[in-house]
Amino acid sequence: MHNKSITDLAKGLRSGEFSSVELTQAFLDRIKRHSSLNCYITVTEDLALQEAKAADDRIAKGDATLLTGIPIAQKDIFCTQGVKTTCGSKMLDNFIAPYNATVVEKFNQAGGVMLGKLNMDEFAMGSSNETSYYGAVRNPWDLNAIPGGSSGGSAAAVAAGLAVCATGTDTGGSIRQPASHCGITGLKPTYGRVSRYGMIAYASSLDQGGPMARSAEDAAIMLQVMAGFDERDSTSVDLPVPDYRAELNNSIEGLKIGLPKEFFGAGLNSDVAAVIEAAVNEYRKLGAHIKEVSMPNLKLAIPAYYVIASAECSANLSRFDGVRYGYRCANPEDLTDLYTRSRGEGFGKEVKRRILMGTYALSAGYYDAYYIKAQKVRRLISDDFKKALSEVDVIMGPVAPSAAFGIGEKIGNPIEMYLSDIYTIAINLAGLPAMSIPAGVVGGKPAGLQIIGNYFAEHRLLNIAHQYQQVTDWHQQSPKDFE
Ligand code: GLN
Repeated sequence: MHNKSITDLAKGLRSGEFSSVELTQAFLDRIKRHSSLNCYITVTEDLALQEAKAADDRIAKGDATLLTGIPIAQKDIFCTQGVKTTCGSKMLDNFIAPYNATVVEKFNQAGGVMLGKLNMDEFAMGSSNETSYYGAVRNPWDLNAIPGGSSGGSAAAVAAGLAVCATGTDTGGSIRQPASHCGITGLKPTYGRVSRYGMIAYASSLDQGGPMARSAEDAAIMLQVMAGFDERDSTSVDLPVPDYRAELNNSIEGLKIGLPKEFFGAGLNSDVAAVIEAAVNEYRKLGAHIKEVSMPNLKLAIPAYYVIASAECSANLSRFDGVRYGYRCANPEDLTDLYTRSRGEGFGKEVKRRILMGTYALSAGYYDAYYIKAQKVRRLISDDFKKALSEVDVIMGPVAPSAAFGIGEKIGNPIEMYLSDIYTIAINLAGLPAMSIPAGVVGGKPAGLQIIGNYFAEHRLLNIAHQYQQVTDWHQQSPKDFE
């Protein structure tokens, strides 16, 4: 049952083949059996069984949605009322959220069953899940490899069949890169498409929540629930939400695909390049036309991102001061000692590095040289995408330069770690939607294809991904021992 699609499970629930309580119990058992993967920070067993019982009643009454009774899990960045919400940090190890994030609320309304809260890099800062206060997550395809980050727990849980699907968030690649490394389907929506209310802020102008699932169809079902205007998020966009599933079967004959030459230079592992080439060929067979495009400013994306994201994080994380909520140091001598030690002891090394970088970039005298400059570069990058997307319908390329690297391999070298997101970060700077879909295996580990579309073209991306998944089976492969 653990590797079935949402629609198959929904059918089984409706026909009485199994109940949501049985389905939920099966997932809870698997979570226990595979606890060494370290995917979950909190498992909400009792709550899940209660929700499953309510879902069974609702299905019996006939007012169920496709997600009613389906066991899903939330990245631990989304606030869940009455349930610990840590954001992967010691700072919030004692934090019980007093309210639900909009995304959580929407899944509740749809009747989804929450299995628990998923491990992640501390405050979503990282590419390997190794910055989590709760320890690294193992990649189910190779237990010595990272699952990607920051939504590493989400990707590993879906790949290992420890949740039907999961939420993720993506500030610079955190949905797409772990999706690629764990062989699942992930979608980062257009900035403003999914509400950020109750999603703990890292870099507010870049953060966006989205679905992580086995297939484009499952992701479409999730996005249907997650997307839409929310007056509690001032950057949420008030546009109608298309019927994502209805668009999945549209023909993609004549689709114009752009391949940025900057995506295929030195630095890209040749086996990953071959996977992308084969995927693009598959699209050619489906009737797509391929064209080379150029985005000369892409090389500036990483430096610009690390100035902007760090600046925003230094402001967002100033609220964790040991006074209002979260970690407080023992026996402070005075207020300064309280602030200093609470923050010094509550935050991990990478988070501190970002706060220091961001504070520096925003300080008088450096603001123009770093922050304003980075914002100008951000505009140039957006313009590159605008130009490319006026010539083609979508852009394709790799998600990550290589398959998943080893646990411990890059954690000592931040610059090398930052380079893991070289193909994903620019998309967040531009605010565009993008997907990662499983497209091959390199040395026993999955590699994803990235598909980048125009603003609010999530329906198109899902359609393009779904068509590929009709003629290939990469998305149906499970890691050995988790089949
Ligand atoms: N790896 C990037 C960072 O550490 C992106 C993380 C994310 O998307 N949340 O900032």
